[in-house]
Amino acid sequence: MLVDGFRRGLVVPEGLIAHGRGEAYDYLAGEHTTKTAQRAIKAASAALLLAKRPVISVNGNTAALCPKEVVELAQATNAAIEVNLFYRTVEREMAIKSELEKYGAKDVLGVGARASARIPELQSERRRVDPEGIYKADTVFVPLEDGDRTEALVKMGKTVITIDLNPLSRTAKMAQITIVDNIIRAMPAMVQLVRSLNGSRSIKKIVDDFDNKKNLKESLKTIRGGM
Ligand code: ATP
Repeated sequence: MLVDGFRRGLVVPEGLIAHGRGEAYDYLAGEHTTKTAQRAIKAASAALLLAKRPVISVNGNTAALCPKEVVELAQATNAAIEVNLFYRTVEREMAIKSELEKYGAKDVLGVGARASARIPELQSERRRVDPEGIYKADTVFVPLEDGDRTEALVKMGKTVITIDLNPLSRTAKMAQITIVDNIIRAMPAMVQLVRSLNGSRSIKKIVDDFDNKKNLKESLKTIRGGM
């Protein structure tokens, strides 16, 4: 799917390497959704339902691997979808937007001139976000994100949720909720869970009870076991 996404202009070569990094961790963790990951998936789903202005940030790899689930999750949580790229070109932004639109996305933010706001402390093109999207959001879901940007979003006071197979990455450590799982398994699970949790009275408690540090330590133990 990644190679196909690369040929279709969604994914950059660096994205293929990043995926390989992820797969190495997935192999060591047994290529399944662990109990630890399930806990994080539940907390992330609850946090998205609790958010006032949630945004789902989409990069090339996410668009290549689970465009349908991105749209379904956005619909189920009333979240905006924003294209947010490390290596920005208008062509790639447009390709990702069209891919999401194929699955029913209506108003995809962050494309072209719409990405006119700046995240403080970041350099050049990596700073750009949509003033109506990530810039204003209280909760940002940034699967497969890089460490600098995650750190900057946390410093802006946002609740940051991520999916990252490497529990040692800066993104995994900086985010408030880290799902250590393959995005292709975690996203469908989130869509299902959000639908079943919606309206539940325990949503806030699920978020409050979640301990990301403890969860990351447990993920690391699983990976050590795999080694
Ligand atoms: P840091 O957060 O320290 O900057 P990094 O430089 O590895 O880490 P990126 O390459 O920008 O960050 O982020 C990609 C992250 O996503 C990596 O940690 C990689 O392990 C993870 N990853 C790649 N593919 C998947 C996938 N399919 N599912 C889940 N995680 C993945």
